[in-house]
Amino acid sequence: ASAPEPARPGLIGRLFGQGPAAEPRRVLDDEMLESLEDLLISSDMGVDTALRVTANLAEGRMGKRLSVSEIKALLAAEIARIMEPVARPMPIYPKRPQVVLVVGVNGSGKTTTIGKLASQFRAAGKTVVIAAGDTFRAAAVEQLKVWGERADVPVLTAPEGSDPASLAFDAMTRAEADGADLLLIDTAGRLQNRQDLMEELAKIVRVIRKKDPEAPHNTLLVLDATTGQNALNQVEIFSKIADVSGLVMTKLDGTAKGGVLVALADRFGLPIHAIGVGEQIDDLAPFDPEEFARALVG
Ligand code: GDP
Repeated sequence: ASAPEPARPGLIGRLFGQGPAAEPRRVLDDEMLESLEDLLISSDMGVDTALRVTANLAEGRMGKRLSVSEIKALLAAEIARIMEPVARPMPIYPKRPQVVLVVGVNGSGKTTTIGKLASQFRAAGKTVVIAAGDTFRAAAVEQLKVWGERADVPVLTAPEGSDPASLAFDAMTRAEADGADLLLIDTAGRLQNRQDLMEELAKIVRVIRKKDPEAPHNTLLVLDATTGQNALNQVEIFSKIADVSGLVMTKLDGTAKGGVLVALADRFGLPIHAIGVGEQIDDLAPFDPEEFARALVG
């Protein structure tokens, strides 16, 4: 315990320490299983998921001696197994423009994620238009403009406080006229007034459907890994407000290891399209279940 620990030990690292001192084999008994359960629960994985993961790990192994590396590998494999079905990139349709509605509470990283997505699609040779749909937050609009400049993508804005749906409609017109591949629409995330938010999003959807009955083609919910279990509530709330088709989890570069993603995968089964791993434009990565699981238990 006195050995200096690496900056970000994972769950098992926290339980047993890391390095050679952690290596002796330990008997997998009830006590050990309980510590593992507690550990997984403390990672925001949720009780049911944690119990299932440990039960799977224990099966046929009770009373056996396992090294810490073996325990890590087994746990990581169990977690990766839960995550694999949801690790799917955002679907791309042969539709022009493909309309991507981005929702989430303020501060979750919507604006940043839109900037990163725009940049990635540009790099892939696609033409992109951004609509700064949170017309009530001047700061968000300004930030999107900066991202747009960096990604070399036009950002459509509207006067502060104006109707986001009418901006969305104009953005559709512009994206169609430009023959743009993608239209990314930012939205407000003020959960304090859920009714307003619901009506606002519904109106945006209604208006863009006048242009394309199938739009939006994707509705991305952006979640902040540092809010832990809160992410579960946010998925519940936003799924009622909008037809969420996939998730992006931001801020996985900090101390948060995103254990709640396991609970999310288990409970909702929504695809996880990408993860935010920093504040820079390139800091958006595909979700890799094995890497995620290793980092979580590591
Ligand atoms: P919005 O209110 O949902 O549009 O959130 P923003 O995009 O403005 O992001 C809120 C804060 O989180 C900003 O300071 C961003 O730089 C930061 N942020 C967003 N994504 C990430 C990420 O993946 N990692 C880190 N470390 N910070 C992030």
